[in-house]
Amino acid sequence: MRQRIAMLPVAQLVAVLCGLAPAGLTAPTAKATVIVTNARVYTVNAKRPWADAVAIGGDRILAVGSREAIDAFRNENTRVIDAHGRLVLPGFTDSHFHLIEGSRALTQVDLNGTASITEVQQRVKKFAAAHPDASWITGRGWSYDIFGEAALPDKKYLDEVVTDRPVYLVGYDGHTSWVNSKAMAVAGITRDTPDPPNGWIVRDAKGEPSGALKEDADDLVGSRVHATREEQLAALRLGLRQANQAGLVRVICLGNSIPLVDDGSNLELYDELLRKGELTLRLYVSSYEGPPTLTKDEIAAVVQAKQTYHGDWLAAGAAKFYLDGVIESHTAAMLTPYSDDPKQLGSLRWDEGEYKRAVAELDRRGIQVFTHAIGDRAVRLALDAYEAAARTNDTHDMRHRIEHIETITAQDIPRFGKLGVIASYQPLHAEPNDDTLKVWARNAGPDRASRGWTWQSVARTGGRLAFGSDWPVVTLSPWYGVQNAVTRQTLDGKPEGGWLPQERVSLEQAIEGYTLGAAFSGHRETTEGSLEEGKLADLIVLDQDLFKVAPSAIHKTKVLLTMVGGKVVYQSPEMAVGSAQ
Ligand SMILES: [Zn+2]
Repeated sequence: MRQRIAMLPVAQLVAVLCGLAPAGLTAPTAKATVIVTNARVYTVNAKRPWADAVAIGGDRILAVGSREAIDAFRNENTRVIDAHGRLVLPGFTDSHFHLIEGSRALTQVDLNGTASITEVQQRVKKFAAAHPDASWITGRGWSYDIFGEAALPDKKYLDEVVTDRPVYLVGYDGHTSWVNSKAMAVAGITRDTPDPPNGWIVRDAKGEPSGALKEDADDLVGSRVHATREEQLAALRLGLRQANQAGLVRVICLGNSIPLVDDGSNLELYDELLRKGELTLRLYVSSYEGPPTLTKDEIAAVVQAKQTYHGDWLAAGAAKFYLDGVIESHTAAMLTPYSDDPKQLGSLRWDEGEYKRAVAELDRRGIQVFTHAIGDRAVRLALDAYEAAARTNDTHDMRHRIEHIETITAQDIPRFGKLGVIASYQPLHAEPNDDTLKVWARNAGPDRASRGWTWQSVARTGGRLAFGSDWPVVTLSPWYGVQNAVTRQTLDGKPEGGWLPQERVSLEQAIEGYTLGAAFSGHRETTEGSLEEGKLADLIVLDQDLFKVAPSAIHKTKVLLTMVGGKVVYQSPEMAVGSAQ
């Protein structure tokens, strides 16, 4: 390539190097800082889905095309990344992420994948022994099915392994906590402690707190666990590294479910990393708005956050609402009673009128709203609120989102497309494991369970899908999510043909859900989500070609290289990267 430039007429060479080439000149006027070549590039650009190479100048894509066309952007300073024929995709966006909690969890007892109470006890015991100076033993990731019929934890199992220090273990979904007797003593929880609003201290037959804290009762203990700023920054650095390693270039952070630090200080932490040049993941951060009412201060704070942070790396100014809980613990709000317990309907955390008023107030100010809604009643209320706000305020294209949408009535499915409401799903939540098929499906009952996570029905009726993980609820690796989105099967292939197979999506749809669809859900599709000229240079190189491997092998995907804004932020040792020679 150097030779070709040297053979250009001097005038044209000067023009090229100085960026002064006259309009209409076919030779590229800009030179690439980086070229990714010899690749199978799936662009997620419908006009040109496939290419061999990408030219990058600074943090932007200069061109996507054939090897020859992209070679023309090369000069002696261009770094050339040879992908060796591997699949290159736009970097992935996780549309529903809890960066603070997930990063903190990396420094705690990891209970993900524990199959029995004994296994939890072993991990807690081992962690306690390895961390004799830790004043709290905290952990995350246990699941309800290890408790059998009871489906709820008990303090006695933790008291068997740790008595000298408080133990605080958050369930995999973040909606129930499991504590030992010492933790309850530290928090002052006794049989006389009343349930807090939107929270339940689970009690045994004699009225004694059993060690399970549902929903906001978690705060009684959780609010006593603190980390220093340095500990938080150290945890965040771990989280950023893991995210980049999994192929993530942006995450959309949903308001905290655990009050570790308030949202204001979260933004300060992110900003500190940005200023130090350590932020390697683009962030769009929402603030949590709690019931019973949206206050003037909360409105001012979210508007201020949007004005302060609106860059490509760090943006804020969306509002997150929790409308209900989860189906496993009967806290998701249903239109008709739970099938396993007809006395329960779940409940809304917000008064319907107050929630609608809050949504309209934010919509009027241009603030995007994310609403957690899992039961069919909560999903309907969120759709109603968004519809009413758009009508009252005459707003358009706000792209308010509903998070999770685990159950839905048939008549509400087409409303996503009709109203332009984003369906924010976490495909791995629908993995047909024991928790889903035994606890979730039993509670929901056969009719509602037949409309569990209706991805394809929402898409077919014009709804836009945004995919994510809800990390640390499940792994942050999107490849497990992509696999479940296309198979709806467990890793060992069950059930045959997939659970509710009509709701599976194609591989292209799954990739779009984590790229262009996710970008659209955060108003970023003009600069992110596909590999196109002018967009940000965020891309990944994979070790296997998703379009060629069996769907059951997608979860094994390894990311070999992650680039954000033209800079390599993660590179596997397996990826030999050459430079311009
Ligand atoms: Zn979440």
